[in-house]
Amino acid sequence: MTNQVPDNHPRAASLRQRYAIAAHAKTGLVAETGTISHGRGEAFDYLLGEETPEPVKEHIKQAAALLLQAKHPVISINGNAAVLAGQYFSELSKAIPAKLEVNVFYGRTQERESMIAEFLKQYGANDVLGINPEARVPNLHSARGSVDKEGIAKADVVLVPLEDGDRTEALIAWGKKVISIDLNPLSRTARKSTINICDNITRAIPLMTAYAKELKGYAPEINKLADSIDNDKATARVLRFMRERLQKLEDELEK
Ligand code: ATP
Ligand code: MG
Repeated sequence: MTNQVPDNHPRAASLRQRYAIAAHAKTGLVAETGTISHGRGEAFDYLLGEETPEPVKEHIKQAAALLLQAKHPVISINGNAAVLAGQYFSELSKAIPAKLEVNVFYGRTQERESMIAEFLKQYGANDVLGINPEARVPNLHSARGSVDKEGIAKADVVLVPLEDGDRTEALIAWGKKVISIDLNPLSRTARKSTINICDNITRAIPLMTAYAKELKGYAPEINKLADSIDNDKATARVLRFMRERLQKLEDELEK
């Protein structure tokens, strides 16, 4: 299905991503509700103009610093994240270095966890945690609370792309710093995390890797960036960016 999108289609990249998610909802890699999450992300990406806003580049740099500063950084991966950006996550995990942990919230089975891990390994990920995990996130019930004792259970900083609000809150209450990536700046995840990156993972992760490579070894700069994190301010800047962008479009139409 993906190769039916002509290269010169103005939104070819977005359509290919949509088809990849739909195809993997069939293979079982993506959860059934993963297609809904994806659609919600697409809608918010329109509000950004499908580009990383300038202020968000700063938030991505702060997040790279937080990962570099961490003692036990972990990158949590679900089906959507693997399908859309498996290669980018594998590269980021090597650049930091950070562990990769499969974390599925819906329809958790060892088979699905293994499928996602194998999918990541084809992009060069070496060690993928989260297969049949034994630790629990305190106060989070059902399969969504299972985590790896060598991964998220031990982590001080967790990167959670396309996360759920409940889990973000539970991870924060457990004492973790949480970097979320969520195109919806109004979601509970975005509001509750230590820093939310309001950008598409397909753009944010390669940029985060580039910043991590640039910052690595420069402790004073890393500490300064990590200490300057303020999620309320970050979200306010994103909302202002969206509002001003819509205002500009509105003005152009009324000219
Ligand atoms: P919450 O509980 O945090 O309020 P939710 O559990 O309802 O939110 P989901 O529907 O599970 O949220 O989806 C997670 C979020 O992922 C959505 O808000 C969506 O905007 C975002 N999202 C989807 N695809 C992408 C993507 N490619 N890049 C970044 N964010 C994305
Ligand atoms: Mg939710």
